[in-house]
Amino acid sequence: MKVLVLNCGSSSIKYQFMDTTLSIALAKGMVERIGMSSAVLTHQPHDREKIKIVGEILDHTIAIEYVIAVLLSPNHGVIKDKKEIDAVGHRVVHGGETFSGSVLITEQVMKALKDNIELAPLHNPPNIKGIQATKEHLKTTPQVGVFDTSFHVKMPPRAYLYGIPYELYKKYKIRRYGFHGTSHRYVAHRAAIMLGKPYEELKIITAHLGNGCSMAAIDRGHSVDTTMGFTPLEGLLMGTRSGDMDPSVILYIMAKEGLSLSEANTLLNKHSGLIGISGESSDMREIEDAVAEGNKKAKLAFDVFTYRIKKYVGAYAAAMGGVDAVVFTGGIGENSKLVRKEVCSDMEFLGIDFDEEANNNVKGESIITKPNSKVKALRIPTNEELVIALDTEEIVNEQLNAAK
Ligand code: ADP
Repeated sequence: MKVLVLNCGSSSIKYQFMDTTLSIALAKGMVERIGMSSAVLTHQPHDREKIKIVGEILDHTIAIEYVIAVLLSPNHGVIKDKKEIDAVGHRVVHGGETFSGSVLITEQVMKALKDNIELAPLHNPPNIKGIQATKEHLKTTPQVGVFDTSFHVKMPPRAYLYGIPYELYKKYKIRRYGFHGTSHRYVAHRAAIMLGKPYEELKIITAHLGNGCSMAAIDRGHSVDTTMGFTPLEGLLMGTRSGDMDPSVILYIMAKEGLSLSEANTLLNKHSGLIGISGESSDMREIEDAVAEGNKKAKLAFDVFTYRIKKYVGAYAAAMGGVDAVVFTGGIGENSKLVRKEVCSDMEFLGIDFDEEANNNVKGESIITKPNSKVKALRIPTNEELVIALDTEEIVNEQLNAAK
């Protein structure tokens, strides 16, 4: 099946046109600066060079028209007719408690998505816009929503409840939701395949370390805990987000510095984390370069970042009553041998026997522990678009079979 995978943000749309049989992207690209006169579309067919088009793209409807047009383009495209787009899979950030799996988008689903806007006011509205815009151009093409949250939705109450009055959970749906679900799910499945063991029998800890970072405890195929919470702010230290801290700290800073709610929100989401501690950068490559040059604050940021991952490995091993594998993915997890080394060193007590040479020479999907290590550590490149495409295919096929 050929699936157009869309990730619609407020001013950008990322797309991949996936062939699920070959498990490859036939083309990928991005529209940036939507709403501006100098919007940019970058498009890369899998077998030809990248192109860049600059023009006025005023809204998501026009942006998607451009995406379809470039997929059809005689020189840069990969299809001859719109009908070759069998289905569209959307990344949707927040499914709330409503969605525990991917779904075919119907009127009823659209209503539920709108009901969840309050939980993700920045992300869900552009996701909804993207779905509506797609419908305008591809009226009869099935669309599927794949949620960042749904993989975690069935974690037990002991993991998702906060220690606040229960009525507030009922009234405002305040609970841990967790994010990056497609990535955690994908790499955990791949880990089981690499280890040659059934996914349903393994206890896996996954660490998705990108600009946003989260970990998940996956106990025999189910996410039973994860570090991000009600919003993506909780848990690990991230590029610009604080992660875990005593909630009183923010009340104290607000009082001392006279910050408004929105200023406090910006402080925690945009000026904290690696950039906040180091004062240098939110980008791990630059942090590592600064550490190598002897920058002390960059080293502190690196240490807080890796210490917290290590701490959660221990916590999740305890939560699951054991662990078989620890998986690193995302831009940092896949590329930073220093981060992987710091997390996996001195962990023999837990059964992780780190292999420095293997870690230095990773290529594609790799094991970075010694052959006899009781617990394996793995580096697995994530592929969220493939998961979205495969979920979309499965759901569309189910519908087709049901209609027969
Ligand atoms: P996003 O969460 O936006 O998808 P990515 O998964 O691409 O982001 O991760 C971005 C992070 O990966 C940045 O902090 C970047 O510095 C880091 N990164 C990418 N390559 C390397 C590398 N070779 N070494 C260390 N960190 C890297």
